[in-house]
Amino acid sequence: MSFRNRFIRFMQGRNGVDALAKFLNRASLICLIVAIAFTFISIACLRHAATGAATVFRILYYVVYGIGIVLAVLWIFRVFSRNVAKRQAENTRYAYRVQKLRRWIASLKQQWKDRKTYKYFRCPKCKQKMRAPRHKGKIRVTCSKCSDIFITKT
Ligand SMILES: [Zn+2]
Repeated sequence: MSFRNRFIRFMQGRNGVDALAKFLNRASLICLIVAIAFTFISIACLRHAATGAATVFRILYYVVYGIGIVLAVLWIFRVFSRNVAKRQAENTRYAYRVQKLRRWIASLKQQWKDRKTYKYFRCPKCKQKMRAPRHKGKIRVTCSKCSDIFITKT
C-alpha cells in the first residue's frame, strides 16, 4: 500500500482539518513567531545592559511560547480526534462566533462611515443600538425593542 493510501486509511473516521483546526494552526504559528521575536528583543536588551527589560521579554517569550505549544497540541488533537460529532459541534460554535465578530466589525465600520450624518446611541433600558439623523436637536425616541421612551441629543 502506498503511503498516500495508508494515510487516507489512517484518517478514516477522524475529524481532519476543519475551520477551527486551521485557526488553531495559524494562531500557534503566530505565537511561535512572536515568541522568537521576544527572544531577539531580550538579547538586544542584554546587549544594551537593560537587564530588567531583558527579563521581562524573556518571561513574555515563555508565556507566548507556552500558549503556542498548547494551541499546537489542540490543533493536532482536533485533526486526529475520532469523536467527530463533538469536534463538529465545536467547529459550528467557532463558526458562529466568527460570524458574530464579523458582523460586529461591519457594524462598527458602518457607524464610522455614518458618523457625520447619524448619531448612534443605545436604549437606556434594554441597551438596543439605534441611530437617528444628526443636527435635529433634542429628539424623543421610542425604543424599537422594548418601547421605552427617552430623550436624546442629535
Ligand atoms: Zn429598549
